[in-house]
Amino acid sequence: MAETADIVIVGGGVVGTSIAYHLARRGAGRGVVVLEKDRVGSGTTSRAVGGIRSQFSTEINIQFSLESVRFWRRFEQETGLPLDYREDGYLFLAQTDGERDTFENNVALQNRMGVPSRLIDAAEARGLVPGLHTDDITAFAYSAEDGRAGPYEATVAFAKRARDGGVTIKEGAEATGFDTAGGRIRAVETADGPIATSVVINAAGPWSGLVGRLAGVDVPVKPYRREIFISEPFSELPAHFPNVIDLHVGWYVWREGAGILMSGRKDSHSSFDTHIDWDGLAFVGEFATHRLPVLERANFGKRAWAGLYDVSPDDHAIMGRTDVEGFYVATGFSGHGFQHSPATGRLMAELLLDGRTTGIDIRTLGIDRFRTGALLREPLTAHAGTMSG
Ligand SMILES: Cc1cc2nc3c(=O)[nH]c(=O)nc-3n(C[C@H](O)[C@H](O)[C@H](O)COP(=O)(O)OP(=O)(O)OC[C@H]3O[C@@H](n4cnc5c(N)ncnc54)[C@H](O)[C@@H]3O)c2cc1C
Repeated sequence: MAETADIVIVGGGVVGTSIAYHLARRGAGRGVVVLEKDRVGSGTTSRAVGGIRSQFSTEINIQFSLESVRFWRRFEQETGLPLDYREDGYLFLAQTDGERDTFENNVALQNRMGVPSRLIDAAEARGLVPGLHTDDITAFAYSAEDGRAGPYEATVAFAKRARDGGVTIKEGAEATGFDTAGGRIRAVETADGPIATSVVINAAGPWSGLVGRLAGVDVPVKPYRREIFISEPFSELPAHFPNVIDLHVGWYVWREGAGILMSGRKDSHSSFDTHIDWDGLAFVGEFATHRLPVLERANFGKRAWAGLYDVSPDDHAIMGRTDVEGFYVATGFSGHGFQHSPATGRLMAELLLDGRTTGIDIRTLGIDRFRTGALLREPLTAHAGTMSG
């Protein structure tokens, strides 16, 4: 007899497993199948650096952050599994008057919504990050409650607790097509045969455009390669200092264990390429040693990787229903998908089980905005800045 499922989630990254976990928490786990073409957490989630912040520019992103931070803080208690969560703060740097205006507007909005961010002066910034070059900086936006955690750890924990709640997670199981006869989802095709279902969620991250196409739905998400470099143990910076983001350049640096993590080049053209190009280290070294000259003495020559940003046209997630009945999307997080996965999981579970969401209205994230032109704007995106090559 053909296999059946109430809900099939395509993609076992942090987004798909969080949705599965939240469905299981609602008691609906037994009818849920997650299809992951590779291994759980092996997609772009395993390449994320784990930043978590409430310093965003739009209400919807800040709402996602506020709810998700509450969840990250109780994650270990709730799942009984490790997360490596810590709040070392985030310090954003502006280099132009326009960027300073953006920071001022953002901090006002964030404060109205309960985020304890503030503009600080150069002396305070240098106190937080010793040796920071500040002469060419027009504004500093700081929140002590931003931080980071382990994306892979979160994904493994979501998957484990989802399984405990009855969810079936199939690894090495690719969704190869969909039966959409009559404009509605009827089955998912896999190499092992079809799974009959009336509900599919496309949570395929950078691959969600391809998965959408299999269902005849245009999901405008594109992959963009980004390099990350980690230094050998480096003690000339403090054991804890805020994540620093030079917004103008699109470069960031923070403490990673005994070493230092810094972002490298990001491609300006879309591709699924994830090779690491060591020439990129020289390229980024110029920015790095200008902003934090002490980094001249750090050795970045051994550890690096590249991952794919999951970019939508307006740098906001795409969530909700599509024109094919029963085919949902939760994708396009544009570099913020790890940190927003707890709110995403709860909201998608509500939408699927109750037909509507509570607390956060996700209609502004609907896929129809690309047809109506009701686009959003997020200047504080990981994809911003001039550092491309
Ligand atoms: C360098 C870098 C740094 C980042 N830093 C941060 C950060 O600091 N904070 C943050 O919040 N986010 C960050 N991100 C973004 C974050 O990684 C993503 O937004 C998030 O991981 C998206 O999760 P996902 O589950 O949607 O995608 P994925 O983890 O890619 O999961 C999708 C899964 O779908 C599977 N799949 C694809 N097609 C199919 C198919 N046909 N059938 C079955 N399975 C399929 C893939 O194998 C994959 O495992 C970063 C990204 C990069 C590249």
